[in-house]
Amino acid sequence: MKTPERAAFDALDHPVVVVVGGGFAGLEMIHRLSGKPFKVILLDKNNYHCFQPLLYQVATGSLGADNIAYPFRRSVGPMPNVMYRMAEVLRINPAENRVETDHGNFRYDHLVLATGTETNFFGNQRIAHEAMQLKSINQALDIRSDFLQEFEAALYLDDEKEQRQRLNFVVVGGGPSGVELAGALAEIRKTILKHEFREVDNRRMQIHLVDSGDAVLGNFSPKAQQLARKFLEQLGVNVKLGALVTGYDGKRVTFKDGSTMDSSTVIWTAGVKGRPIPGLESAVEERPARYRVDAFNRVEGKANIYAIGDIALDRSDPKWAKGHPQVAPVAIQQARHLAKNLLRKDRAQWQPFAYRDKGSMATIGRYKAVVDFGKLRFGGPIAWFLWLFVHLMSIVGFRSRIMVLTHWAWKYLSWRNTIRLIIRPYVRKEYVVQGPQEDGGPRPKAVHA
Ligand SMILES: Cc1cc2nc3c(=O)[nH]c(=O)nc-3n(C[C@H](O)[C@H](O)[C@H](O)COP(=O)(O)OP(=O)(O)OC[C@H]3O[C@@H](n4cnc5c(N)ncnc54)[C@H](O)[C@@H]3O)c2cc1C
Repeated sequence: MKTPERAAFDALDHPVVVVVGGGFAGLEMIHRLSGKPFKVILLDKNNYHCFQPLLYQVATGSLGADNIAYPFRRSVGPMPNVMYRMAEVLRINPAENRVETDHGNFRYDHLVLATGTETNFFGNQRIAHEAMQLKSINQALDIRSDFLQEFEAALYLDDEKEQRQRLNFVVVGGGPSGVELAGALAEIRKTILKHEFREVDNRRMQIHLVDSGDAVLGNFSPKAQQLARKFLEQLGVNVKLGALVTGYDGKRVTFKDGSTMDSSTVIWTAGVKGRPIPGLESAVEERPARYRVDAFNRVEGKANIYAIGDIALDRSDPKWAKGHPQVAPVAIQQARHLAKNLLRKDRAQWQPFAYRDKGSMATIGRYKAVVDFGKLRFGGPIAWFLWLFVHLMSIVGFRSRIMVLTHWAWKYLSWRNTIRLIIRPYVRKEYVVQGPQEDGGPRPKAVHA
């Protein structure tokens, strides 16, 4: 028997909007359509929204996973016209206005795709297999376990070379994620490794931030780039620019110029790409796998399918001829804008999307952050407090905000935050070679150890 709430939802005689993905874009979308004349179904393969900008803090043990994840059911609970289903969308059938999932099919009148991106290894399968990633909570927890396991393992090694290899961390990609992660690892060396792993000489831990470009924070102003590099070097991060990584076998990183670097841990933050769902191939821009949309976020050639956030590629605005940056404000603004347009009955009244760029910020360590805001470019303690404030206010859920604030206060005042727990040990996967590769050589096959 149906509950009264379910019966009321079913009885709604409104157009059905299916939203795929509850990231920044999808979550904003359901908030904007809550209480409006639509029957909304949110589908996400996870049962929580993940606040990706703070993933690196989970990876480095500053925050717990539950501080940056928020259950969809808590968001949807007070929204009578919104239903959530935990499901992975496997195919879109535009001819029949239907999406197919691992838990059955859902019919729609409007389909909103907000599926975000995944790590881009630019086709290098071996690196994809060996390197660690930072796009999900699972991956952040893997990094946390891995670096703690490396510290513990280093204590059993007498050989300096072996110990150095264990404690050599290579972060590939000098964008905000790479910079923030490298800075946080450097702080761990200065505080945790030094005081809690006293038997290891903490100078043996090296952090390398590697990028193929000629500056870190490629999309920031030159002033922010220089400041960020200065802060990183003050923390003891080795910044290696103009260095293109071409290989990694789990022990050794190889660069395009033939040089190598030994490391047990490579964390790849060098790019993202979309993972479009089968069924709309004609609208997919191959590189970097995003749906081409018009200024109304309509997927090319489809009147009732829209893409928003990282997965959408809108080249209609001459100011953003290569598409908008893949950041949270774009995702949120596109969702708000599309919701407003959907609420306008007459399509002739729809307004084109225009992105309001509010600037960029990145943090490198305590009191060390950089901000580009309009014509203002600054760094240091004020930028750092601003970064803390903006991120704190953006986290979903009052409780999470309080928890994060408490963790940060404790961490930055005492350096004694306590989430350095190996609850779920990271098990390295064996790399098994099998079958022919494109170049005629053997093809790798990943096998879980
Ligand atoms: C480490 C890191 C740090 C970042 N830092 C910043 C920052 O400081 N500032 C900033 O503005 N941006 C930052 N970003 C970028 C920002 O997080 C993204 O731009 C933003 O998350 C995009 O939102 P979205 O809704 O498009 O996608 P996402 O937030 O990625 O959400 C996509 C959702 O879709 C779901 N999904 C995917 N495929 C399917 C499917 N087939 N079926 C069902 N569900 C599916 C996923 O589970 C996920 O919940 C960072 C990103 C990362 C990874």
